[in-house]
Amino acid sequence: MARTSLQCRECKKEYETAFKYICDDCFGPLDVKYNFPTVSKDTFSNREHTYWRYFELLPIENKSNIISIDAGMTPLTKAENLGKKLGLNNLYIKNDSVNPTFSFKDRPAGVAISKAKEFGLSAVGCASTGNLASATAAHAAKGGFPCHVFAPSDIEMAKIAQALSYGANYVAVDGTYDDANRIAAQIGDSKGIGIVNINMRSHYVEGSKTLAYEVAEQLDWSVPDQLIVPVGSGAMLNAICKGFEELQTVSLLNDVSNMHM
Ligand SMILES: [Zn+2]
Repeated sequence: MARTSLQCRECKKEYETAFKYICDDCFGPLDVKYNFPTVSKDTFSNREHTYWRYFELLPIENKSNIISIDAGMTPLTKAENLGKKLGLNNLYIKNDSVNPTFSFKDRPAGVAISKAKEFGLSAVGCASTGNLASATAAHAAKGGFPCHVFAPSDIEMAKIAQALSYGANYVAVDGTYDDANRIAAQIGDSKGIGIVNINMRSHYVEGSKTLAYEVAEQLDWSVPDQLIVPVGSGAMLNAICKGFEELQTVSLLNDVSNMHM
Protein backbone atom coordinates (compact mmCIF):
# COMPACT_ATOMS: atom_id res chain seq x y z
CA MET A 1 0.00 0.00 0.00
CA ALA A 2 1.35 3.43 -0.93
CA ARG A 3 2.18 5.64 2.03
CA THR A 4 0.40 8.63 0.53
CA SER A 5 -2.39 9.64 -1.82
CA LEU A 6 -3.65 13.01 -3.03
CA GLN A 7 -6.95 14.55 -1.98
CA CYS A 8 -8.80 17.58 -3.33
CA ARG A 9 -9.06 20.27 -0.68
CA GLU A 10 -12.46 21.36 -2.05
CA CYS A 11 -14.48 18.31 -3.15
CA LYS A 12 -12.37 15.71 -1.23
CA LYS A 13 -11.95 13.45 -4.28
CA GLU A 14 -8.93 11.16 -3.83
CA TYR A 15 -6.25 10.29 -6.35
CA GLU A 16 -3.30 7.94 -6.40
CA THR A 17 -0.11 9.92 -5.93
CA ALA A 18 0.99 11.24 -9.33
CA PHE A 19 2.58 14.26 -10.98
CA LYS A 20 -0.56 16.39 -10.67
CA TYR A 21 -1.68 19.18 -8.37
CA ILE A 22 -5.20 20.17 -9.44
CA CYS A 23 -8.46 18.23 -9.13
CA ASP A 24 -9.87 16.98 -12.46
CA ASP A 25 -13.43 17.59 -11.31
CA CYS A 26 -13.39 20.99 -9.61
CA PHE A 27 -9.87 22.44 -10.21
CA GLY A 28 -9.30 22.57 -6.45
CA PRO A 29 -5.74 22.16 -5.11
CA LEU A 30 -4.61 18.64 -4.15
CA ASP A 31 -3.12 17.93 -0.72
CA VAL A 32 -1.03 14.94 0.33
CA LYS A 33 -2.96 12.47 2.46
CA TYR A 34 -0.99 10.01 4.60
CA ASN A 35 -1.30 6.52 5.96
CA PHE A 36 1.00 7.28 8.87
CA PRO A 37 2.89 4.31 10.30
CA THR A 38 3.24 3.81 14.04
CA VAL A 39 6.05 6.03 15.30
CA SER A 40 7.47 6.97 18.69
CA LYS A 41 10.04 9.41 20.04
CA ASP A 42 12.63 6.64 19.71
CA THR A 43 11.91 6.36 15.98
CA PHE A 44 13.65 9.68 15.41
CA SER A 45 16.07 9.95 18.31
CA ASN A 46 19.33 8.73 16.76
CA ARG A 47 18.96 9.91 13.21
CA GLU A 48 20.76 12.32 10.89
CA HIS A 49 20.65 15.98 11.88
CA THR A 50 18.53 17.03 8.91
CA TYR A 51 14.78 17.27 8.42
CA TRP A 52 14.92 13.89 6.66
CA ARG A 53 15.05 12.33 10.14
CA TYR A 54 11.22 12.54 9.90
CA PHE A 55 11.09 10.36 6.78
CA GLU A 56 8.02 8.43 7.96
CA LEU A 57 6.02 11.68 8.06
CA LEU A 58 7.17 12.98 4.65
CA PRO A 59 5.67 12.15 1.23
CA ILE A 60 8.54 10.15 -0.29
CA GLU A 61 7.98 6.42 -0.80
CA ASN A 62 11.56 5.27 -1.24
CA LYS A 63 14.53 6.59 0.73
CA SER A 64 16.76 6.17 -2.32
CA ASN A 65 14.94 9.13 -3.90
CA ILE A 66 15.90 11.56 -1.15
CA ILE A 67 18.00 14.47 -2.39
CA SER A 68 19.49 16.00 0.74
CA ILE A 69 21.90 18.88 1.12
CA ASP A 70 21.79 18.42 4.91
CA ALA A 71 19.16 21.10 5.54
CA GLY A 72 17.10 21.28 8.69
CA MET A 73 17.58 20.51 12.38
CA THR A 74 18.58 24.15 12.71
CA PRO A 75 19.23 25.60 16.18
CA LEU A 76 16.41 26.54 18.53
CA THR A 77 18.26 29.16 20.52
CA LYS A 78 17.10 30.46 23.89
CA ALA A 79 17.00 34.26 23.59
CA GLU A 80 17.89 35.12 27.21
CA ASN A 81 18.44 38.86 26.82
CA LEU A 82 15.53 39.53 24.50
CA GLY A 83 13.33 37.39 26.74
CA LYS A 84 14.34 39.43 29.79
CA LYS A 85 13.54 42.63 27.97
CA LEU A 86 10.11 41.33 27.00
CA GLY A 87 9.39 39.70 30.36
CA LEU A 88 9.45 36.17 28.94
CA ASN A 89 11.25 33.34 30.75
CA ASN A 90 11.24 30.87 27.88
CA LEU A 91 11.71 32.69 24.59
CA TYR A 92 13.31 30.69 21.79
CA ILE A 93 14.28 31.65 18.25
CA LYS A 94 14.38 29.05 15.48
CA ASN A 95 17.32 30.05 13.32
CA ASP A 96 16.61 28.76 9.81
CA SER A 97 19.08 31.19 8.28
CA VAL A 98 21.82 28.60 8.88
CA ASN A 99 20.34 26.18 6.35
CA PRO A 100 22.72 25.37 3.46
CA THR A 101 21.26 28.03 1.14
CA PHE A 102 20.45 30.34 4.10
CA SER A 103 16.65 30.12 4.26
CA PHE A 104 13.78 27.81 5.24
CA LYS A 105 13.12 27.24 1.53
CA ASP A 106 15.58 24.34 1.65
CA ARG A 107 12.78 22.42 3.36
CA PRO A 108 10.02 22.61 0.71
CA ALA A 109 12.46 22.65 -2.23
CA GLY A 110 14.21 19.50 -1.02
CA VAL A 111 10.97 17.57 -0.60
CA ALA A 112 9.65 18.73 -4.00
CA ILE A 113 12.84 17.82 -5.87
CA SER A 114 13.09 14.45 -4.14
CA LYS A 115 9.51 13.81 -5.25
CA ALA A 116 10.41 14.94 -8.79
CA LYS A 117 13.09 12.24 -8.76
CA GLU A 118 10.54 9.71 -7.51
CA PHE A 119 8.20 10.72 -10.36
CA GLY A 120 11.04 10.19 -12.83
CA LEU A 121 11.01 13.80 -14.08
CA SER A 122 14.00 15.00 -16.07
CA ALA A 123 14.13 18.68 -15.08
CA VAL A 124 12.98 20.99 -12.29
CA GLY A 125 12.53 24.70 -11.74
CA CYS A 126 10.69 27.41 -9.88
CA ALA A 127 9.25 30.87 -10.20
CA SER A 128 11.14 32.96 -7.71
CA THR A 129 12.83 36.25 -7.09
CA GLY A 130 15.31 35.03 -4.50
CA ASN A 131 15.53 32.46 -1.71
CA LEU A 132 13.47 29.78 -3.41
CA ALA A 133 15.60 30.02 -6.55
CA SER A 134 18.72 29.33 -4.48
CA ALA A 135 17.17 26.40 -2.62
CA THR A 136 15.78 24.85 -5.81
CA ALA A 137 19.03 25.29 -7.73
CA ALA A 138 21.15 23.79 -4.94
CA HIS A 139 18.97 20.69 -4.64
CA ALA A 140 18.81 20.34 -8.42
CA ALA A 141 22.61 20.46 -8.58
CA LYS A 142 22.85 17.77 -5.91
CA GLY A 143 20.35 15.59 -7.76
CA GLY A 144 21.85 16.18 -11.19
CA PHE A 145 18.75 17.90 -12.58
CA PRO A 146 18.72 20.81 -15.02
CA CYS A 147 17.08 23.71 -13.15
CA HIS A 148 15.11 26.58 -14.72
CA VAL A 149 14.51 29.71 -12.66
CA PHE A 150 11.68 31.88 -14.00
CA ALA A 151 11.92 35.50 -12.89
CA PRO A 152 11.13 38.99 -14.22
CA SER A 153 13.66 40.23 -16.77
CA ASP A 154 14.26 43.43 -14.77
CA ILE A 155 15.23 41.60 -11.56
CA GLU A 156 18.39 42.78 -9.77
CA MET A 157 20.87 40.09 -10.74
CA ALA A 158 22.22 39.95 -7.17
CA LYS A 159 18.93 38.31 -6.16
CA ILE A 160 19.51 35.26 -8.34
CA ALA A 161 23.33 35.22 -8.38
CA GLN A 162 23.38 32.46 -5.76
CA ALA A 163 21.03 30.25 -7.83
CA LEU A 164 23.12 30.84 -10.94
CA SER A 165 26.25 29.86 -9.03
CA TYR A 166 24.68 26.42 -8.54
CA GLY A 167 24.26 26.12 -12.31
CA ALA A 168 20.61 27.17 -12.75
CA ASN A 169 19.30 28.46 -16.07
CA TYR A 170 17.66 31.91 -15.77
CA VAL A 171 14.48 32.26 -17.83
CA ALA A 172 13.90 36.02 -18.04
CA VAL A 173 10.22 36.89 -18.37
CA ASP A 174 9.21 40.37 -19.53
CA GLY A 175 6.62 41.31 -16.93
CA THR A 176 5.89 40.96 -13.22
CA TYR A 177 6.52 38.06 -10.85
CA ASP A 178 2.92 36.94 -11.53
CA ASP A 179 3.73 36.78 -15.25
CA ALA A 180 6.84 34.69 -14.51
CA ASN A 181 4.68 32.41 -12.38
CA ARG A 182 2.15 31.95 -15.19
CA ILE A 183 4.81 31.25 -17.83
CA ALA A 184 6.53 28.77 -15.50
CA ALA A 185 3.22 26.97 -14.98
CA GLN A 186 2.54 26.72 -18.71
CA ILE A 187 6.04 25.55 -19.64
CA GLY A 188 6.23 23.22 -16.65
CA ASP A 189 2.97 21.49 -17.54
CA SER A 190 3.67 21.28 -21.28
CA LYS A 191 7.28 20.06 -20.93
CA GLY A 192 6.87 17.88 -17.85
CA ILE A 193 9.21 20.04 -15.76
CA GLY A 194 8.71 19.86 -12.00
CA ILE A 195 8.14 23.49 -11.01
CA VAL A 196 8.52 23.12 -7.27
CA ASN A 197 6.17 25.89 -6.14
CA ILE A 198 3.56 25.32 -8.87
CA ASN A 199 2.97 21.85 -10.31
CA MET A 200 4.92 20.17 -7.46
CA ARG A 201 3.16 22.32 -4.88
CA SER A 202 1.22 19.51 -3.16
CA HIS A 203 4.50 17.91 -2.14
CA TYR A 204 6.50 21.13 -1.87
CA VAL A 205 4.40 22.51 1.00
CA GLU A 206 5.00 19.32 3.00
CA GLY A 207 8.64 20.28 3.54
CA SER A 208 7.84 23.37 5.57
CA LYS A 209 5.99 21.42 8.26
CA THR A 210 9.33 19.97 9.41
CA LEU A 211 9.85 23.31 11.21
CA ALA A 212 7.06 22.22 13.56
CA TYR A 213 8.51 18.73 14.01
CA GLU A 214 11.93 20.12 14.91
CA VAL A 215 10.62 22.70 17.37
CA ALA A 216 8.53 20.03 19.11
CA GLU A 217 11.46 17.60 19.32
CA GLN A 218 13.89 20.32 20.45
CA LEU A 219 11.44 21.17 23.25
CA ASP A 220 11.52 17.48 24.25
CA TRP A 221 8.23 16.77 22.49
CA SER A 222 6.21 19.49 24.12
CA VAL A 223 3.82 22.07 22.68
CA PRO A 224 4.84 25.75 22.74
CA ASP A 225 2.32 28.13 24.33
CA GLN A 226 2.77 30.74 21.61
CA LEU A 227 4.32 30.62 18.16
CA ILE A 228 5.20 33.72 16.16
CA VAL A 229 5.68 33.01 12.47
CA PRO A 230 6.65 35.53 9.76
CA VAL A 231 4.18 35.54 6.89
CA GLY A 232 4.60 36.12 3.17
CA SER A 233 1.98 34.07 1.35
CA GLY A 234 1.01 32.31 4.59
CA ALA A 235 1.99 28.89 3.22
CA MET A 236 4.64 28.32 5.90
CA LEU A 237 2.22 29.31 8.68
CA ASN A 238 -0.30 26.81 7.36
CA ALA A 239 2.36 24.09 7.04
CA ILE A 240 3.62 24.62 10.61
CA CYS A 241 0.07 24.39 11.92
CA LYS A 242 -0.39 21.14 9.94
CA GLY A 243 2.88 19.81 11.34
CA PHE A 244 1.78 20.23 14.95
CA GLU A 245 -1.62 18.68 14.21
CA GLU A 246 0.08 15.67 12.60
CA LEU A 247 2.28 15.16 15.66
CA GLN A 248 -0.91 14.96 17.68
CA THR A 249 -2.38 12.50 15.14
CA VAL A 250 0.61 10.15 15.53
CA SER A 251 0.49 10.61 19.33
CA LEU A 252 3.87 12.30 19.68
CA LEU A 253 2.22 15.38 21.18
CA ASN A 254 -0.75 15.78 23.46
CA ASP A 255 -3.48 18.30 22.72
CA VAL A 256 -2.13 21.10 20.50
CA SER A 257 -5.40 23.04 20.45
CA ASN A 258 -4.25 25.47 23.17
CA MET A 259 -1.21 26.60 21.19
CA HIS A 260 -1.58 30.12 19.80
CA MET A 261 -0.04 31.11 16.48
ZN1 LIG B 1 -12.10 18.57 -6.41
